[in-house]
Amino acid sequence: MASKKINFGAGPAKIPEAVMEKAAREFLVYGNSGVSILEMSHRSSDFTAIIKEAEKLMREEMSIPNEFEVLFMQGGGTGQFAAIPMNIARGRDTADYAVTGTWSDKAGKEAEKYINVRKVFPSMKPYTTIPDYGSWDRKSDAAYLYYCANETVHGVEFHTPPETHADVPLVADISSNFLSRPFDFANHGIVFGGTQKNLGAAGLTVALVRKDLIGHESRHCPSILSYKEMHTNNSVYNTPSVYGIYITKLVLEWIRDTGGVNKLFTTNQEKSRLMYETIDGSDGFFSCPVDAAHRSHMNVPFRIGGGDESLEAAFLKGATERGMVGLKGHRSVGGIRASIYNAVTLDETKALVDWMNEFETANRK
Ligand SMILES: *Cc1c(COP(=O)(O)O)cnc(C)c1O
Repeated sequence: MASKKINFGAGPAKIPEAVMEKAAREFLVYGNSGVSILEMSHRSSDFTAIIKEAEKLMREEMSIPNEFEVLFMQGGGTGQFAAIPMNIARGRDTADYAVTGTWSDKAGKEAEKYINVRKVFPSMKPYTTIPDYGSWDRKSDAAYLYYCANETVHGVEFHTPPETHADVPLVADISSNFLSRPFDFANHGIVFGGTQKNLGAAGLTVALVRKDLIGHESRHCPSILSYKEMHTNNSVYNTPSVYGIYITKLVLEWIRDTGGVNKLFTTNQEKSRLMYETIDGSDGFFSCPVDAAHRSHMNVPFRIGGGDESLEAAFLKGATERGMVGLKGHRSVGGIRASIYNAVTLDETKALVDWMNEFETANRK
């Protein structure tokens, strides 16, 4: 078998080895079913058991309050950008958006097709911080207040949820920090994310929706984006991402067996601390533009030599030679981005830090 590289890719991203091994063992024939999961009916008893177990584990590992439904959907995080205004406008004509990076910007632009979008603070470009919550210009009759809990491209993370008015539910995109830290559901109406960063394969989107927000979809809302249809049909209104749900179930088992979300959070803090200490301790050789208070534990963007593209290319080339891949920054920001999701180990992060230190010593002028 070809040897595996250390994968710092932003998504689809590394999946824990234990999950990959179990999936490989079960791939050809699943249990006593006599068929592969890829060949299995989504209405079979075997798959019904898998999806039920996935929901149960999701509830347990994330401590999801009872007033939330767990919906397994398709269409990615991007599909939810449209689903949200179509489902929970509830007759209100405006929604508030906190735009802190590429993903919340995209979410707002998509929502504009269905609802008036108001930004609660002026453009934060180039997206290196989050304004104090007290300064946000929030409306008390907004349909909801939208934010992206972790901006994957810019490395800007909310370490506490924003404030909101009593009757304005928070909507959080947690695609890139799903189960990387404990989540406080208070004041939230919808919490959603694609699974291809922290929770498994591409092709599955998990939407956690507060019960009272289900059943208000506009009459134009496609059935597959309707929370009501998905909920009424236990997420099998149509053929779901059968394999994606299975892989997410395995990832949730892995989370449980490795000590749960608190344990992951401790390790994630340790990994990100190592990265930022290396960057900040390099006297400007490495630089991260994000304010210290809002830096992400999952995606660490940085520049080398103040944005010296030939140095950055040399760094990436050396990383590849050392078996590390997926480190090129997003095309919109350039530089380097290390995505250190749940599945990326402390030792793998240390290998990257070692290479950073070695590279700095060799290239510092
Ligand atoms: C990756 C990502 C998305 C988009 O997910 P798709 O599944 O590609 O639609 C949305 N939001 C965030 C924060 C992401 O990281």
